[in-house]
Amino acid sequence: MKKVLITGGAGFLGSHLCDRFIKEGFHVVAMDNLLTGSMRNIEHLFPLPQFEFYHHDVTRFVHVPGQLDYILHFASPASPIDYLKMPIQTLKVGALGTHNLLGLAREKKARILVASTSEVYGDPLEHPQSEDYWGNVNPVGPRGVYDEAKRFLEAITMAYHNFHGVDTRIVRIFNTYGPRMRVEDGRVLPAFFSQAIRGEGLTVFGDGSQTRSFCYVHDLIEGIFRLLMSDYHLPVNIGNPDEITILEFAQEIIDLVGNSNAFIDYRPLPVDDPKVRQPDITRAKAILGWEPQVPRAEGLLETMKYFKEVVH
Ligand code: UDP
Repeated sequence: MKKVLITGGAGFLGSHLCDRFIKEGFHVVAMDNLLTGSMRNIEHLFPLPQFEFYHHDVTRFVHVPGQLDYILHFASPASPIDYLKMPIQTLKVGALGTHNLLGLAREKKARILVASTSEVYGDPLEHPQSEDYWGNVNPVGPRGVYDEAKRFLEAITMAYHNFHGVDTRIVRIFNTYGPRMRVEDGRVLPAFFSQAIRGEGLTVFGDGSQTRSFCYVHDLIEGIFRLLMSDYHLPVNIGNPDEITILEFAQEIIDLVGNSNAFIDYRPLPVDDPKVRQPDITRAKAILGWEPQVPRAEGLLETMKYFKEVVH
């Protein structure tokens, strides 16, 4: 039985990865310090003998006994509000955490896939963003702690690949949504769903003309799984190119939830908020034969069911 370590295993993406690797017949070790993750996301896996959970902070030395075949490094605060509240932890998990896990991969001769982000492109001057674009990031702005940590994560991963011959993969993840997102994580979709369900104002930042492109979580997990099993070590964008303005997105969620008390509540635009974002997925299509399958209407319906259960 192949063994995989998933850091951030109790988080939104990490827990969906745990499910997928269990389904594929792996022994799964989930590791999380529960800073933003939740045991609720993985409690259904606890009865399984092929599942283990380590409550551990990966910025400290990481020890996993015995054989290890794969590592997926998904530990990090990931919403702008979280990394504003936890700037040092965000920098440490992207930098020190990645260093520890690359060391572990080298020691165990394991293949490692690290989670990077569309934030490496910053407030992009090229649109859509392909992997060859180097980005437009403000290192000392509020988002710099996340953007630069992830840029460092990519750089040190390539260094371990080139210098130590570690078998590495880098995924650049664009906005992703689905069940298990934290209600209060501050990102646009949890904010809009909880506000629409409660019949409150949907807090649209700025004039809402900024765009994002939202990928359903199952599509994303499929792309990551294929990338891990490929032999490609340069960064690959995984996301859904279906782009929408934030104002249109708010209206879509109001219509879907159908609570007539909900309304649009304009708020100031945060500093350095990217004006546009859309993945160019030419590389993922060519190398992984992957493209998203779930249209937004379908994914939002599934996600609404989850939010209706957890929002009070
Ligand atoms: N946003 C918004 N209202 C909110 C939260 C976010 O209008 O309550 C906007 C935010 O300004 C950004 C977009 O939605 O333009 C996506 O924000 P999110 O925090 O989800 O993540 P980002 O894509 O910026 O990393």
